[in-house]
Amino acid sequence: MKRSSESTEFTRRDCLKAGLAAALGAASAPSLEAAETKLSAPSSKKEANILILGGGSGGIDAAARLSRSVPKARITLIAPNGEHLYQSGLFFRAAGLYDEKKIWRPTRSLLHSGVRLIADRVEQIDPEKNSVTTASHGDFAYDVLVVAVGVEARFDLIDGLEDRKKWEENGVVSLYPYDLAQKRAEGADMVGRWFSKMEGGGVGRILVAEGEGPIKAENVPLDILFRALEKAGPKSAVTLAKSTRRLIGNDDFDKALTAILKRDARLTVQRGYTLRQVDLENRLVMCEAEDEMKEISFDLLHVTPPFRAPACVAESPLAVVEGEWEGYLDLDERTLQHKRYANVFGLGDIVARAPKSGGATRDHAVVIQDNVASWLEGAPMTAKYAGYTVAPVKTSDDKEMFAEYDRHGLSATFPLDPTVPRKIYHWIDLHAMPWVYFEMIMRGLM
Ligand SMILES: Cc1cc2nc3c(=O)[nH]c(=O)nc-3n(C[C@H](O)[C@H](O)[C@H](O)COP(=O)(O)OP(=O)(O)OC[C@H]3O[C@@H](n4cnc5c(N)ncnc54)[C@H](O)[C@@H]3O)c2cc1C
Repeated sequence: MKRSSESTEFTRRDCLKAGLAAALGAASAPSLEAAETKLSAPSSKKEANILILGGGSGGIDAAARLSRSVPKARITLIAPNGEHLYQSGLFFRAAGLYDEKKIWRPTRSLLHSGVRLIADRVEQIDPEKNSVTTASHGDFAYDVLVVAVGVEARFDLIDGLEDRKKWEENGVVSLYPYDLAQKRAEGADMVGRWFSKMEGGGVGRILVAEGEGPIKAENVPLDILFRALEKAGPKSAVTLAKSTRRLIGNDDFDKALTAILKRDARLTVQRGYTLRQVDLENRLVMCEAEDEMKEISFDLLHVTPPFRAPACVAESPLAVVEGEWEGYLDLDERTLQHKRYANVFGLGDIVARAPKSGGATRDHAVVIQDNVASWLEGAPMTAKYAGYTVAPVKTSDDKEMFAEYDRHGLSATFPLDPTVPRKIYHWIDLHAMPWVYFEMIMRGLM
């Protein structure tokens, strides 16, 4: 196992890893090096007014952690969703291995009792005035702002996919759509029906395609692909159209996955193919590849959409102004403090230049816990995010490759070759992770 060159000290991760490994036999703990926080975590006695935007993984984890590191703070969390979704469980829900109860919890039930919850949508952020405007509760002032509003799936940016009602009858699905207000995992439901269609092995052309990146949860298209290869019949033709050159954002895992996929003669992998258009009626897509449009036909198509920052961030002075990360939160990549507004921090999918996963979000939360406290005390911010992410790729019905890496390379939690798919990883992901997520991560305990 590798340690980060940025940290040589015994970290909280060492303790967590040991504790969790003991509890679960061998479960997923945050990678040693990613958060780099010291055991004597900073705390602040300031009575600061901390405002957290977003009630997803990042907002709830940050609220729990800041309740401890800044115990006298008045913490308010603004989010429209009364229900919280365990998004990592959506694949298992689609595969029929989880019921609804496994993936949903009331947002309030996950929050520390001292945290005030405002059920509303943020419309505007004014960092010059330290103020946030909501749709129906007026304005909120803050001393420290923590932004965790996630990203939006933008299927409308792919020509032909604007009307979701027409997808399924024309062979199109996606795992990504969900409706927090209605408490509906629409994507898991439609992918579940798609999996059932494949069971008989009668489907001809299966296509797994992606819109323009950076995508959220890079394991998702691969999970769908492996499932299709497992369930589709011997005469099926399966195509993966990846918007990037690599199958995953790390060379070692890319090589390992490429070697596994090469063994299947039914599969064609097209790298650098970005999905631009879907012709539902004729069941064909147009992908952009090296400035040309390539046509691919399908009987069944899974779409990973482009993602964008919500308007409240994208249209605020907090956003990156141009380039690939336009609209995302412009933070220092290590301290997670805003580059221009020192009292603004952020975490999760909305962070520019960071991977989009629950694992990355959890590591961000550890950094936020310490750095907000340090900043309030006027002390140096010692916690640094090292780019950790995890993509648990479900390579078969009973095995997973637990792809953990950061800016420095592999960042495996356990002393096993992480590029090898294993049953133990699948067992942990399927059976242990929902509990770990709701009872530990969402309470800021690991
Ligand atoms: C299908 C799928 C599978 C996944 N699989 C995995 C996996 O296996 N492993 C893994 O590590 N990660 C996985 N992820 C990714 C992981 O769930 C996300 O990275 C994580 O939830 C990001 O947390 P977040 O807080 O940034 O965003 P979210 O959890 O999406 O929360 C965003 C919050 O912001 C709120 N919000 C949005 N706009 C506003 C506004 N204007 N005002 C106020 N609040 C607002 C939303 O209501 C929500 O509460 C998966 C995701 C999906 C969709």
